[in-house]
Amino acid sequence: MPPAFAQSNGWYAGIMTKLPEVRRRLAADRAAALAQLGRLERDQADIVAAAQAANGDDEHDPEGATIAFEREHTAALAGQARRHLADIDAALSRLDAGRYGTCERCGGPVSPARLAARPAAATCITCAARAR
Ligand SMILES: [Zn+2]
Repeated sequence: MPPAFAQSNGWYAGIMTKLPEVRRRLAADRAAALAQLGRLERDQADIVAAAQAANGDDEHDPEGATIAFEREHTAALAGQARRHLADIDAALSRLDAGRYGTCERCGGPVSPARLAARPAAATCITCAARAR
């Protein structure tokens, strides 16, 4: 249940009327994140294949060093894409549970401006700043 103060003001009513739109946007973001992750995983497979073709003397071969760098870079991007996907899934389950727009940390409202910029945001701006 959202906190009583959240239900008692216009903020909550405002969020409720926008939920179908939010769900569409999250679904679109999710599809985009999945497509990006798919591309990155194909890139990773290509890099692994290239590393095997280069006969793998990673330490001394300049080509091997480039491949190692690309492998790490692609792995980092794939990690980001997976976290983003997890954030979107968490936002969708908050939506299903009727907790969308409620801060996961303090239970206060997440501002509509923040949600407009980051529909998957789990925390209010104050808690997000504190977590850094
Ligand atoms: Zn908060």
